[in-house]
This record gives sequence, structure tokens and C-alpha cells, in this order.
Amino acid sequence: MIKGSFPIEKFKNFKTPFYYYDIELLRQTLSSVMNEANKYGYQIHYAIKANTNPKILSVINSYNLGADCVSGGEIQASINAGFSSDKIVYAGVGKSDWEIELGLERNIFCFNVESEAELEVINEIASKKNKIANIALRINPEVNANTHHYITTGLAENKFGISISALDEITENINNYKNIKLVGLHFHIGSQIMDMLSFKGLCVRVNEIQEKISEKKISIEHINLGGGLGIDYHHPNHIVMPDFKEYFSIFKKHLKLYPEQNVHFELGRSIVGQCGSLVSKVLYIKQGKSKKFAIVDAGFTELLRPALYQAYHRIENISSDEKEQEYDVVGPICESSDVFGKNIELNTTKRGDYIVFRSAGAYGEVMASQYNCRELPKSYFSDEMNY
Ligand SMILES: *Cc1c(COP(=O)(O)O)cnc(C)c1O
Repeated sequence: MIKGSFPIEKFKNFKTPFYYYDIELLRQTLSSVMNEANKYGYQIHYAIKANTNPKILSVINSYNLGADCVSGGEIQASINAGFSSDKIVYAGVGKSDWEIELGLERNIFCFNVESEAELEVINEIASKKNKIANIALRINPEVNANTHHYITTGLAENKFGISISALDEITENINNYKNIKLVGLHFHIGSQIMDMLSFKGLCVRVNEIQEKISEKKISIEHINLGGGLGIDYHHPNHIVMPDFKEYFSIFKKHLKLYPEQNVHFELGRSIVGQCGSLVSKVLYIKQGKSKKFAIVDAGFTELLRPALYQAYHRIENISSDEKEQEYDVVGPICESSDVFGKNIELNTTKRGDYIVFRSAGAYGEVMASQYNCRELPKSYFSDEMNY
């Protein structure tokens, strides 16, 4: 989707703000990720939390990905969208009993376990149900992902995962849990990672951990390397998808596998990020003392990322080609943090113009709220524009 190709005429039938998805781009991205992963036999799970729009889920499912869930609700949503439960992995530091029960009843592929306390509870619930739970230990590899501190997860003092020092004790005790089968090791070092060296660092650490574990004669069927591959928020018109080829080749090159081991990934943002845009309309241009404000009808209720962690989204006026001027682009919500960008160059902007926020397919619609009694945004799709 480039600036000139949004179907503005069609947009006139829709109430703003809304999400618009480029389904052709989503399909191209899915083809690319699956082609590159298939070269090495890697298995891809889509991280459901990035976008749970039912249409998006059904397109993704049609490319045979598994699902990576972080709640019982997500397990349910992925099953409803047709994902097969033997390709569902379930992670999360705080799994409730009903969520563990749901995972067991649905015979999901694997629970990614984040503490020994959780291991005990899963074992107990599985034993009551006369089931064996497949589990992977989520290990905190202490790799710095060089990303925003709110979305890094792999450092030592982080709520996620089991520390390398606690791993010894857990693997010593693992045979005491009769209703648990240890099948994998799981890692996830953070999100929006642009520096491929971080993934090489992860491989090196995984190799060390595997070596330690193999000394204990524990065999591990699969290694799950999580997600985190970033997208180019600054150039959505030119870099329309991440370099999956380079990404997987790093693991192929640096990860040491033992015989018969499978490799899994959990990608979210890199699959859906670039295909979505939030479309809004300009309500007012307000002249401040030294700057101009473009006040749009979308707020952080529709796109939270800028307010939540100062995230950047490229902003474009798709109704205007006139000379560029600087604006602060702000929403209508009664909070000072409801700002999408300051000193943004936009083609000269007036009331009624369409302003789009690009690269909003991941962690966009799914984080929408009804604060200020606002309606949840609707969504429209590029392949449904011709009726
Ligand atoms: C969020 C998450 C992912 C996906 O992260 P992306 O950066 O969107 O690829 C994968 N695995 C786990 C455990 C997660 O929490």
C-alpha cells in the first residue's frame, strides 16, 4: 500500500476512524515467511496477540501457521479461526487454572512454562484430569535485544521466564512431576528487534544452555526461539516486509541442533505490522502560538502505541498533494498523552482530509479501548472493496 493507492472514494462510505488492511500485502508477507522457513523445516506460529481480527486470523490460518497464545481467550480465538490445537503453544507468566484446564482439554501442542511454581500447578491440574501436559521451559537467556525497555523481555531482572541459575534445580526435579513431559526449550528476547546481531547472541546462548542440559541426559525435542523480528516503521512504502531470508539464515548458521530436534518460531509484528493502517479524518486545524495542530478524530483509543511507549508511526495526508507544512497531530481524548506525533511534515492539511497512520497492523486494533465512551473501530479489507 503506497500513499497514492488508498481507495479514498470507497472510504467516503465508511465512518472514521477505522482500520484498513491490505490483504494482498498480508498474503505476500505470509508467502515470504513460509517459503523462507520451509527451506530449513522451521515451524512458524503466529503470535495471536499482535492482531486477533477474525478475517486476519483466517487468512493467516490458510497458510498453515500454528498459533502462539498468551491467554485462554487467545486459545479460544485461534481455535475459532480454525487453527489446529496440536499447533498451539501457550506462554504467559500468569496462567489461571481455567486457562490451564482449557489447554489440557484442547490437547494443545505445548505449555511454555515460566516458573517452577507454575510447573507444580500444571502438574496438579493435569493429574486431576488424567492427562500428560507437554511443556517447554521458557528460559530467560539474558540477551539484550537493544529495543525499548518496555518491550525487552530477555534481561536478568524481568518478570518473564526462568533464570539460567534456576534452570539447574528445575531440570534436577523434572522427573518428580509425573503428569508433565518436558519436550522443549523456549526463548523470547523482546519485540521490534532490528539488530540481527541480537538473534546471533540468542543462538550462542541457546547453544550453551543446550550443552549444559545434554550433560544431564535430558533430551529436548524442540527449540522455540520466540518472535521479535522488527518492521521498518519509517519506510512502510519502500520496505514493505522484513527480511525473513536473512533472519532465518542467522539461526541456520549459528544454532547448534541435536539430532531430531525441531525449531519453532513465534512471529507477530513481522507478519501483520505493515498490512494495517488506521484511517482518520481531520476535524480542525488549530493555530497555536508558534505551531499548528491537526486535530484528528482518532485517538489513543484506536491506536495506543504512541501514548503507551512513544512509538513512531508514519503519518500521511492521503487527500492532499499541496506543499508540506509542520503539524502536531493530536487526537480528541481528554489526556495530554493523546498525541500521535510532533512537528510532522504533512501536505497542507485542512478539515475533512484523510490522515492515515501506517504500519498499524500489529498491536493496533487489538489494543483499542472504549475510554470516553468511544465505539471500537471497524475494519475494512482491500480485497472487499469491489462491491
Ligand atoms: C509477544 C510475543 C511474541 C511475538 O512478538 P513479536 O515481536 O510481535 O514478533 C512471541 N512470543 C511470545 C512469548 C510473546 O509474548
